[in-house]
Amino acid sequence: MDALHARDVAVELGRDYPELRDAVSRVCERYPGEYWRGLDAKLDYPSAFVKELTQGGFLSALIPEQYGGTGLPLRAAAVILEEINASGCTASPAHAQMYIMGTLLRHGSEQQKQRYLPQIASGELRLQAFGVTEPATGSDTTKLKTRAERRGDIYLVTGQKVWTSRALHSDLMLLLARTTPADQVQKKTDGLSVFLVDLRNSRGLDIRPIKAMINHHATEIFMDGLEVPAENLIGQEGKGFRYILDGMNAERILVASECVGDGRWLLKKSVNYANERRVFDRPIGQNQGVQFPLARAYAELEAADMMCRRAAALFSAGQDCGADANIAKLLASEATWKAAEAAIQTHGGFGFASEYDIERKWRESRLYQVAPISTNLILAYIAQHVLGMPRSY
Ligand SMILES: Cc1cc2nc3c(=O)[nH]c(=O)nc-3n(C[C@H](O)[C@H](O)[C@H](O)COP(=O)(O)OP(=O)(O)OC[C@H]3O[C@@H](n4cnc5c(N)ncnc54)[C@H](O)[C@@H]3O)c2cc1C
Repeated sequence: MDALHARDVAVELGRDYPELRDAVSRVCERYPGEYWRGLDAKLDYPSAFVKELTQGGFLSALIPEQYGGTGLPLRAAAVILEEINASGCTASPAHAQMYIMGTLLRHGSEQQKQRYLPQIASGELRLQAFGVTEPATGSDTTKLKTRAERRGDIYLVTGQKVWTSRALHSDLMLLLARTTPADQVQKKTDGLSVFLVDLRNSRGLDIRPIKAMINHHATEIFMDGLEVPAENLIGQEGKGFRYILDGMNAERILVASECVGDGRWLLKKSVNYANERRVFDRPIGQNQGVQFPLARAYAELEAADMMCRRAAALFSAGQDCGADANIAKLLASEATWKAAEAAIQTHGGFGFASEYDIERKWRESRLYQVAPISTNLILAYIAQHVLGMPRSY
């Protein structure tokens, strides 16, 4: 029950990092709803927006200064993403550039770090793709089928990934593949390895976009004899699953903060609309039936925000934050969805009109209960690892 008890970790209250928030929202002002609507209609990528965030140093927040980044703590990165979404923009096309490199930073060799991190920080190299999910194994990650076999100086990779976001807008992909067959390892989490794969001009690689409900630039990736230099293995062969776990905690905290940002934007829009829209000779916001779902979403969003702060504080303190990161993501994804539901209901028919951006944010908000990890899997984790109940999966 450790994770449920208060721990000695400083958590800032209120509007933390105000200068950073202001700087982010100044960038976002230049990318209004019509920019995002235009991209959505054509399934385009927000290149200009991502470029400006990169040049402003926002996406290198987690890269230490010695490798060309701005070397900020995880909470600062979370604030950047929260603020992007709270401004009505969408952080997901850029967010992975922030955290995927964490595996390289924590487990890569000094030579790998020197080679890649400064270029990732400057945006010369885009490390935006993280290939874990596979069509046949889904949430059961350790059963993944992609194989990487050592042949002298290279690994030959064969397999398939699905839902790999931004692979067509990335130069590099962090790939999880099996290097020792599952029946030859003691623990099923052993025998998996992490590689940095160059997506440019690689033979044996086919990347195809997936048309989806939201403009998330998702792809499926087919690898057939893809050659990956052995020097692109990160850390020790067979230990990859452990390496990606702490990266996943960072991802969950950051995605949870994006949810909080979305929720704030949805609530602000809805409250303004509810106060202005007059029906039956009074603002619709005067009706408790309209107020209460917004008030409830606000309360739940504030609670989720506190969990995001605590999880980020634990992460930065180098303490175990698995439970907190998962809880933050669970609560934030649900609070945001409540805000989205309340927003579309508050806007009535206009909630469905693209020009209000509510329907777009409503669609985008739905994702977080499924990816990067689904709600059930978080609940199963809490039941087992926090509450000490039998493993259910
Ligand atoms: C837009 C989008 C972008 C994505 N981007 C990436 C990416 O960049 N990289 C990447 O690797 N993946 C990515 N994903 C994949 C995402 O992480 C998975 O979709 C998610 O983890 C769920 O896995 P699955 O889709 O295989 O569902 P499944 O594992 O098939 O699960 C389906 C449903 O069954 C439930 N379920 C399964 N097992 C249990 C159980 N034991 N107990 C209770 N419920 C259970 C799940 O909770 C879920 O609701 C993305 C997905 C989407 C939709």
